[in-house]
Amino acid sequence: MPRFLTLAFAALLLSACAHQQAPRNPLATWVPSSNHDARRPVLVVLHYTEQDSVQRSLDTLRTANSGGRVSSHYLIGQDGTRYQLVSDLDRAWHAGAGSWGAVSDVNSASIGIELDNNGRVPFAEPLVESLLVLLGDLKTRWRIPAENFIAHSDLAPRRKVDPGVHFPWKRLAEHGYGVWPRDDTPPAPPGFDVVQALRTVGYPVDDLDATARAFRLRFRALPDGPLDAEDHRILYALVQGWTIPVQAEPAR
Ligand SMILES: [Zn+2]
Repeated sequence: MPRFLTLAFAALLLSACAHQQAPRNPLATWVPSSNHDARRPVLVVLHYTEQDSVQRSLDTLRTANSGGRVSSHYLIGQDGTRYQLVSDLDRAWHAGAGSWGAVSDVNSASIGIELDNNGRVPFAEPLVESLLVLLGDLKTRWRIPAENFIAHSDLAPRRKVDPGVHFPWKRLAEHGYGVWPRDDTPPAPPGFDVVQALRTVGYPVDDLDATARAFRLRFRALPDGPLDAEDHRILYALVQGWTIPVQAEPAR
């Protein structure tokens, strides 16, 4: 084999190995410890595909399409069929620019789930039931807290609206995925700091108009702001932990 081919082959082998095994830093002496496990995802981000067929979405999520390469860990069809495209341990390209709480590289910290829905119709019942099963598995295996199941629109309010107005967030919260305010909570007190509350919940607050839209989309299925007293009540309940399933008693 010519020398340049041998080198190319060796480089190929090395890159294949690098993918199998985390690269070691040549700046330090490797003294391995067995006291470790895989890093854990801490967020689950829900999306709709905005497409009309699972096959088309599978193509989009697995090829270099014209809008740029995208992927997700999972895709769920309307009949409830679950597809996995990327290992939970690897970084899929589903979130893009955005942030949630202290997490600024959401792709590195999250699992992305695409749902076969075009954004204009209710989510199919078999899809929702299948999603609940998957969320239960992810929550248990990766110990993801209820409040860390979020919408793509939550982390990228300026760019995204999915999974949109038809997504059943209250139903998910009743099963322990995502937060939802109790119905019987009091109004927010005078002087309630809305911006701080949005930040506490996790929202980016660099564009308040966009964040207000995302918040209303998620909690009231309304596309537009500005935030009113009902939004303030919901936000107050969220920051107080007055969410379903019942987690604390509101002070009257
Ligand atoms: Zn999305």
